[in-house]
Amino acid sequence: MCILIVLNGQNGISNELGSFLPIRTTLKSHSINVKQVLFTRLSVTKSLITLTIAIFFVVNKDIVDIGLKIEILHLIYCYFCLSMLNIQENKNLKSYNSFSLEVFCTFFVEINSIEDFLSLLKTEVYQNNTKLIIGGGSNILFTQNFEGIVIKNNLKGIEVVHENNNEIIIKAAAGENWHEFVLYCIKKNYYGLENLSLIPGCVGASPMQNIGAYGVEIKDCFFELEATNVVNGEKKVFKKEDCEFGYRESVFKTKYKNQYFISSVSFKLNKNADLNTSYGAIKEQLDVMKVKNPTLKDVSNAVIAIRQSKLPNPSEIGNAGSFFKNPEISFEKYKELSNNFKEIVSYPLPSGNFKLAAGWLIEQCGLKGFEKNGAAVHSKQALVLINKNNSSGKAIFELSSYVLQKVFDKFGVTLEREVNII
Ligand SMILES: Cc1cc2nc3c(=O)[nH]c(=O)nc-3n(C[C@H](O)[C@H](O)[C@H](O)COP(=O)(O)OP(=O)(O)OC[C@H]3O[C@@H](n4cnc5c(N)ncnc54)[C@H](O)[C@@H]3O)c2cc1C
Repeated sequence: MCILIVLNGQNGISNELGSFLPIRTTLKSHSINVKQVLFTRLSVTKSLITLTIAIFFVVNKDIVDIGLKIEILHLIYCYFCLSMLNIQENKNLKSYNSFSLEVFCTFFVEINSIEDFLSLLKTEVYQNNTKLIIGGGSNILFTQNFEGIVIKNNLKGIEVVHENNNEIIIKAAAGENWHEFVLYCIKKNYYGLENLSLIPGCVGASPMQNIGAYGVEIKDCFFELEATNVVNGEKKVFKKEDCEFGYRESVFKTKYKNQYFISSVSFKLNKNADLNTSYGAIKEQLDVMKVKNPTLKDVSNAVIAIRQSKLPNPSEIGNAGSFFKNPEISFEKYKELSNNFKEIVSYPLPSGNFKLAAGWLIEQCGLKGFEKNGAAVHSKQALVLINKNNSSGKAIFELSSYVLQKVFDKFGVTLEREVNII
């Protein structure tokens, strides 16, 4: 037997939860399964409309089939539920992080609209707990259970904000899957994001670290984003210059860390052919594909093929892509290292500094494939740490510290973690 209990959390939920817990314990001891639904946003209009429709169908004499009535009522109920917040307790986050780590959070809620988020803001459970907003969980390492509320962003929708003959400004809601959004733009022949094909995660997280690959970063096409302050609910538009984008950096990782919920991101894309195939690996892959005059789709396919050959698929092996950033060093340090290590993989920066390939540094320490407590350095790509054998977040973190130390001992270079450690 299963009972559905409805709690009204409109004005905070701690009282409701407090009085509900003993009832649940008693029912459970009688083997009665309890499902708990927490309503935190009972919009009066929506409730009234839903109730009126429900009554209409129940009393409607034209519908004699009782099965049909039940089915319709069920549909109305589902529609009604869509507008409510369902705050769950003690949620397993295994399918919400790309390392596939079995960690739990105290509270968990999925939000489907900005109104959901604003309603959540008013609840006690939100106000009294540490918060973590997640998209696809592909750039997070949970080193322990999360004592607080995890907010899974599911905001959906793509819309054209402005267009002329040459360019288009297109806005995507933060919960849109990044790769699907890229494919959507490719299908419409909008140029700019194709080199960023197959990066896991959601649109909302893309400005966080200014995602980049194969010679392109989102800052190259970024127009603006909309965000909501996580404390007072105030909306703010961030233009490109406000975001202070850098290599895997933005203000959302520094001075505004954990202060904003990004709800949508707009990109300015080109309607005229404008491909970036300068990256060596793309050129080589296009040759392999025997493509002479690449289209948008060809470049995307080339990027996908390269990524699939190099990077472990998180649905098969838990990982978060590159675990470390490529370090930047001074010209003097570069001279010293290149004297000692003739093969060093590096490239000059406009500032006069040099960027080193972190993967090469790790590989030179003999760590490719190195494994400890189920955590390992990937055997094909040393920059990627993997959950090889039912590892824990703590073990993966410890492995990352070991790698950092080894690289420092050999090269005197300090690596920085790219993945967000929780
Ligand atoms: C196989 C693999 C390959 C990858 N390749 C690349 C690559 O080529 N280039 C690259 O840059 N990255 C890469 N990544 C990293 C990752 O995919 C990106 O950083 C991606 O943008 C993370 O998106 P997400 O939705 O999964 O973010 P999450 O992991 O859910 O969150 C990341 C951070 O952003 C915050 N956040 C998420 N959504 C919001 C929001 N709406 N508002 C406010 N804060 C938010 C979270 O709190 C967290 O701090 C790769 C990862 C994997 C697993």
